[in-house]
Amino acid sequence: MHDATQRIMDRVIQLDSNQTEFIQAVTSFLNSVDKLVDDIPQLIYHKVLDRIVEPERAIIFRVPWVDDDGQMQLNRAFRVQMNSALGPYKGGMRFHPSVNLSILKFLAFEQTFKNSLTGLALGGGKGGSDFNPKGKSDGEVMRFCQSLMIELGRHIGEDTDVPAGDIGVGGREIGYMYGQYKRLYNKSVGILTGKHPSFGGSYIRPEATGYGLVYLSAAMLDAEGKNLQDKSCLVSGSGNVAQFTTEKLLKMGAKVLTMSDSSGVLIDPSGIDEEKLAFIKTLKNVRRGRIAEYAQKYKEATYIAHNGSATSNPLWDVKADYAFPCATQNEINTEDAKHLVANGIQLVGEGANMPTTLDAEQILMDNGVLLAPGKASNAGGVAVSGLEMVQNSQRLQWTPAQVDAQLLTIMKNIYSNISSAAEKYSTKNNFVDGANIAGFIKISDAMLAQGYV
Ligand code: GLU
Repeated sequence: MHDATQRIMDRVIQLDSNQTEFIQAVTSFLNSVDKLVDDIPQLIYHKVLDRIVEPERAIIFRVPWVDDDGQMQLNRAFRVQMNSALGPYKGGMRFHPSVNLSILKFLAFEQTFKNSLTGLALGGGKGGSDFNPKGKSDGEVMRFCQSLMIELGRHIGEDTDVPAGDIGVGGREIGYMYGQYKRLYNKSVGILTGKHPSFGGSYIRPEATGYGLVYLSAAMLDAEGKNLQDKSCLVSGSGNVAQFTTEKLLKMGAKVLTMSDSSGVLIDPSGIDEEKLAFIKTLKNVRRGRIAEYAQKYKEATYIAHNGSATSNPLWDVKADYAFPCATQNEINTEDAKHLVANGIQLVGEGANMPTTLDAEQILMDNGVLLAPGKASNAGGVAVSGLEMVQNSQRLQWTPAQVDAQLLTIMKNIYSNISSAAEKYSTKNNFVDGANIAGFIKISDAMLAQGYV
């Protein structure tokens, strides 16, 4: 690293030494963009890198709500408005007990470059709360969402900041938050994306992250003369991204051997077919149950409960051609990466945000595994959110086929941008560098043009 880049890294570590996820995301980014510093000295002179690692604004607020027993409950919520150089802050809300400022700063940081890669006019942000929707009634979730929006509402707007979903926030939560915003501000405008199509949501938004991941991975494989037909795949997670990744993989002729949830791992050697996937969708989206139920219904499958003290995840030790981590950050560690390599994995397509640790990433790349980094490969979700904003501004709704065609074009463009940036500034097939650099160049151009703001 150049001294000037190292100084920025040191400052982040000194200021926020306890924000491990944020430091991890900044390390990956600075390792890549350091390769640009000789070509574009203005980045240092105008302190673009110093500014880009500092959120424009971070809001922290309390959310009191009343549970079904009439008791007051209290959660902490956040909105990190990271960068508005390209457009309104854009990024999801995460409801999960692990949520803290470090996780949301890392997510907002990743989101900034992801949104740039989509080619749409979107800045980067992220928010959420340590509220755990698991085990809560619909009424409790509604009251929490309403209370949260009473404060969040003043900080967002269709031209200011447009939240969406993430872990723990789906159509139900978006609906409750949207309804409360409308009641507070008396306005029907696109202040959230991921809405139901009956009130301004875009078709294909639920499918978009998973479909986009498979479109980008297919483009990457195609460049190597490979494809998905009859290939065995590992998918982790069983939420929105995992479900639609599996759906699209099946449509492309691949076989999916695994899925998981926060309680355990499911391995089905006969493959998770369309009928079994429909069971998972109802189980997860309607009944909000645990994936262990799958193994009770389909006896050919094995269920392994997570072991808190285990150093590796058995899901990543199943022999397969391609892997799609779609659960959460840092779900592939060095042990997992070694298992994947030993089993001959050829591609890791990240559906989650930062699912691979920095050292695990290195092991995969050193062994010639194609690594599609999340900020590129999972950008389909926010891309269709961007298209939802366009439809809301037009007060029109496009057909599913129109949206899907645009999603495919966007993902192919992302592949071509990150692979040419990799070849130009780093090495062929280093898509981590390619994504960081291609995402960053557009933002730095905008930041340089807009002065010291
Ligand atoms: N949470 C998603 C992501 O990580 C989507 C964000 C959005 O649609 O704004 O990209």
